[in-house]
Amino acid sequence: MSITPLMPVYPRCDVRPIRGEHCHLIGEDGTRYLDFAAGIAVNLLGHSHPGLIGAIQQQAATLMHVSNLYGSPQGERLAQRLVDITFADTVFFTNSGAEAVECAIKTARAYHQSAGNTDRFELITFGNAFHGRTMATISASNQEKMHKGFAPLLPGFRYVEFNDLEGAKAAMGPHTAGFLVEPIQGEGGIRVGTQAFIEGLRQLADEHDLMLVFDEVQTGVARTGTFYVYEQYGVEPDILATAKGIGGGFPLGACLATERAARGMTFGTHGSTYGGNPLAMAAGNAVLDAVANEAFLADVRAKGERIRTRLAQFIGNYPDLFEEVRGKGLMLGLKLKVEPRGFMQHLRDKHRLLTVAAGDGTLRLLPPLVIDEPEIDEFFEKLSAGAADYAVPEGA
Ligand SMILES: *Cc1c(COP(=O)(O)O)cnc(C)c1O
Repeated sequence: MSITPLMPVYPRCDVRPIRGEHCHLIGEDGTRYLDFAAGIAVNLLGHSHPGLIGAIQQQAATLMHVSNLYGSPQGERLAQRLVDITFADTVFFTNSGAEAVECAIKTARAYHQSAGNTDRFELITFGNAFHGRTMATISASNQEKMHKGFAPLLPGFRYVEFNDLEGAKAAMGPHTAGFLVEPIQGEGGIRVGTQAFIEGLRQLADEHDLMLVFDEVQTGVARTGTFYVYEQYGVEPDILATAKGIGGGFPLGACLATERAARGMTFGTHGSTYGGNPLAMAAGNAVLDAVANEAFLADVRAKGERIRTRLAQFIGNYPDLFEEVRGKGLMLGLKLKVEPRGFMQHLRDKHRLLTVAAGDGTLRLLPPLVIDEPEIDEFFEKLSAGAADYAVPEGA
């Protein structure tokens, strides 16, 4: 037998972490890595946060799982907190980002169809989007590499270029139910939605009674320096998908909606066996305890600005390697002039710095939000060394 016990869908590298300490990962062989990947924007409290560990340990010992047939004091508490700090009136808990987007798609369709508009099912989505790997969420993306071998796709999506408001307007028709967009594309390469684009989508949605759905799975939960990035645009969605950071490493996601947007999501229309179980709720509540306050958010913004400023200065030393710095808060990207995967591997294997390659020639920098000054200095030492000995063979 040549297939590996782990289904070989990931090209896994030689880093084999077995322990985490704050912003570092320690491999099976004892190698220490500085973690600017954070489980792809997940471990926002780093790897050994006492509050998160304590909450999970205590809840695991008290009550791990019950079904959604019963009342949930733990879930009510987390849902109420999310309702209090966001645009939303109601929350459905999931176990992943793709499931949160699935719920958002269903909520948007049901908004129209529960009111008798059964021909409104189409969501307009955007070039190079990433919404997850389920059938609906790959169908929502125009990325063919995710479609190959999985036909037929789910109907009901139309693709338009990201940041192309006129294109979005032109794509609207009698079947349009709404827009599904990442305000900042993550996998797509830290491509920031323009103010005019995000505002314009809101306006189109208002004018035509469409649902504006934000996929904040990667941008959400303090990553960009506000609890959700929509706050920085001053544009509220009708529906929002969140996951990644919200469990701090525990699998948790959620679909948030206004009361109006959720009008189709009535008894029996949706469900999840695990979604919102007491253990997941304990993790989510512990994450909110840490990040959902102005002092923490201001700290993320300040650190993001400092790193960004230093990066902008630094990249000037290597004009053949770097093109620009992108992103908001601690969701940063370096647009490279070389293939990002090779540089990511070089930083990882030679300098023990973990980053994530993304689309559009970009390297993602997604440190834990609790990163401190010495770790930021360590990052710049590793990046400088990595740029210096990567630039050499390139030179001439
Ligand atoms: C990661 C991601 C998803 C999918 O989340 P999973 O937990 O992997 O299912 C969806 N949307 C965006 C924007 C993401 O970054």
